[in-house]
Amino acid sequence: MYLKGKIAIITGGARGIGRAIAEGLANEGVRIVIADVKGAEGAAKEIEQKGFEAIGVRADVSSEQDTQRMAEDAIKAFETIDILVNNAGITSLIPGPFEKISVNEWQKVMDVNVMGMFLCCRAVIGEMRKKREGRIINIASGMPFKGSPYLLHYTTSKGAVVAFTRALAKELGSDNILVNAIAPGLTLSDGIMANEVVFKQLREVSVKTRTLARDQYPEDLVGAVKFFAGSGSSFITGQTLLVDGGGYFH
Ligand code: NAD
Repeated sequence: MYLKGKIAIITGGARGIGRAIAEGLANEGVRIVIADVKGAEGAAKEIEQKGFEAIGVRADVSSEQDTQRMAEDAIKAFETIDILVNNAGITSLIPGPFEKISVNEWQKVMDVNVMGMFLCCRAVIGEMRKKREGRIINIASGMPFKGSPYLLHYTTSKGAVVAFTRALAKELGSDNILVNAIAPGLTLSDGIMANEVVFKQLREVSVKTRTLARDQYPEDLVGAVKFFAGSGSSFITGQTLLVDGGGYFH
């Protein structure tokens, strides 16, 4: 099994999609580092209780210092880093016209969704380059492909994730570090379930405009992460895979 014994950092892994990814990789024998602003240690303990290896690191991905410490703690615990899943993101936003978005909120979304991914990649790159091997998997969104309105900061930030993925893949190809992204449709994660406005406004339309017309769950993303982390994708880089049940616009 290619994944067995590998070490993965999952940012935002305490709950939602990140938690499902952490559990899915743990099931394949991957040793897990949960990096999260909230609940990292508790989540890691719960994964350990299921018989897997995991540690939790309290880290804000938009802090350079935290991301450096996250990488150091991972290496201290497990000696290396093989896989980075840049999943941390903000899901508490309320949709509205773009001119009503405050500068502070715009900045916060960019800091976490875009700069956070940049800082986490920078923090792990030394270790991956040393081994000439690594997998970086960024969680984007289907929204930039649809041009989804009324969450312009969020949609823009996820468009940046797609661009970042394509360009970084080119920079890291000669180091044998593969960079890919996964773009989920509206997924019933903890964050989305807690965001009543998004949940009420977008759930029904998301399901209706899907080829596979059902709700999407965090577990629906796990297979794609395993694919990009595993041997089956060893000649694929710079790509974004939409995992959204065949979402379309009508
Ligand atoms: P969630 O709110 O359920 O979980 C997000 C996790 O990220 C939380 O544990 C939170 O504490 C953590 N987090 C937030 N800011 C952080 C920071 N600065 N540093 C470290 N951790 C931080 O969200 P989710 O729905 O599971 O989303 C996960 C990812 O998937 C996000 O990048 C989101 O944008 C993306 N996504 C979600 C959906 C969806 O519909 N749920 C769709 C497309 C993309």
